[in-house]
Amino acid sequence: MGLRVLKFGGTSVGDVEKVKNVAARLAEAVDAGDEVVAVVSAMGKTTDELVGLSKSITTKPSPRELDMLLTTGEQVTTALLAMALQEMGYEAVSLTGWQAGLKTESVHGNARILDIDAKRMIRHLGEGKIVIVAGFQGLSDTEDIATLGRGGSDTTAVAIGAALKADRCEIYTDVDGVYTTDPRYVKGARKLSTISYDEMLELANLGAGVLHPRAVEFAKNFNIPLEVRSSFTNDTGTIIEEVASMEQNLVVRGLAFESNVTKITISGLPNEITTLPSLFSSLASNGINVDIIIQSTSQRNTTSISFSIETAALELTLDVLRRLEVKLPYENIFYESELAKVSIVGSGMISNPGVAAQMFEVLADHDVEIKMVSTSEIKVSTIVPEDKMIYAIETLHEQFQLDERTPVNQ
Ligand code: ASP
Ligand code: MG
Repeated sequence: MGLRVLKFGGTSVGDVEKVKNVAARLAEAVDAGDEVVAVVSAMGKTTDELVGLSKSITTKPSPRELDMLLTTGEQVTTALLAMALQEMGYEAVSLTGWQAGLKTESVHGNARILDIDAKRMIRHLGEGKIVIVAGFQGLSDTEDIATLGRGGSDTTAVAIGAALKADRCEIYTDVDGVYTTDPRYVKGARKLSTISYDEMLELANLGAGVLHPRAVEFAKNFNIPLEVRSSFTNDTGTIIEEVASMEQNLVVRGLAFESNVTKITISGLPNEITTLPSLFSSLASNGINVDIIIQSTSQRNTTSISFSIETAALELTLDVLRRLEVKLPYENIFYESELAKVSIVGSGMISNPGVAAQMFEVLADHDVEIKMVSTSEIKVSTIVPEDKMIYAIETLHEQFQLDERTPVNQ
C-alpha cells in the first residue's frame, strides 16, 4: 500500500471511452489498497482548439485571458473522470489547480510552481477519496490563473508527488516509455528500462517530447522516482531515477534530434568587452531563444560571432540585428537555414574521454558536415545539414550500439 500519483496526458483521455478506461485503472489501484491522486491533461487536442478559438478573435490575446481560457480544458477532464469513478461506485473528487493548493509565479503562459498547500488533497485522501487534479495550472500571488507552459501537466504531477511525498509518480502517455531515439523515425530505436534524471533532462531539453523538462528537474530535486508508461497496455515503462551505479557501462544512452535550425554569423563586430552582452541582451529582450554560440578569435579590432536559432525566429532576428547596427556596428551578416541539431546523451561520457571525437569521426566518415558543436558533461550536440539528420541519427545509433545492447540498463 502506498501513495501513487498517476498522470494522464491528452491522448490518454482523448474521448469518453478513454476517460472510462482511466477510471478503471484508478479503481484498480484503489482496490489494490493504494491511495491515489490523478493529474489529468485536457482531452485530446482541446488545448490547441482553445488556442485556435482565441485566434479567431485576436492575434494577440491578453496572456491573462488566454490562461483563463486554456485552463478550462483540464477542468473538463477532471469532472468527467470524477463522474466516471462515481458511476463505478468509487468516491472521487475533482479539483482545479488552485483548489489543490498550487501557487505559481505571477507570470502567464509559462509560470513556475512556487509552492503547494497540500492540506485539501490530504483531507480528501483521508476521506478515502480518489483526488483528481487539473494539470498545467495554478494561482499566482495576484490571484490570477496561470498556466505552466505547454506540456506542463507532467510538472503538476511531479510537484504534487513531491508535496505529498508520494511513493511513485507514473506518467501515462501514448508511448510505452522513453526510447534510445524517436522510434517513429529510427527503426532500431529501443525502449530503455531505466534512465537517469540528468540524461532524461538533457533529452527532454533537446526536444524529446515525452516529458516536460521542468517535470524532470522537479523529480531530480525532490528525488521522486518517475515512470513513463503507456495508458493503453499493462507493460512496465521506463523508470527515471538517480541510477548512479550503471554509469560506467553506458557511454551513450540516447540520441535526440531537432530540425528547423538556422545558423547566423555576424562578422566585423567591435572586439570589445560590451559586444557580447549588448548583442545577446537585445536578442533576449526580443524573446529570441539562442542555442549554440561561438565567438571566433578576433582579428585586429574585430571579432565574429555565430549562433543558432529556431528558423521560425529568423525574420525577427534579422530585424533586431539591423536595428542594432546603430549601437553595435558590424560588417556583415550571413545565415544558413535548413540545418538540424543532432545530439548524443549519456552519463558515461563523464568518465570516458573521446566520445565527442568518436561522434565527429563517425559523422565525417559518413559525409555529414558538422557546422557547430556544443557540449555539456553528458551531451554532445552538433549542427548538421537538415537533409542528413535522420541518416546521422541512424548511423550514430548503430555506432554507439544502441540497437543491440541487451539489456540496456545493465
Ligand atoms: N493541455 C496542456 C497542453 O496541451 C498541458 C498538458 O497536456 O500537459 O499543453
Ligand atoms: Mg506531454
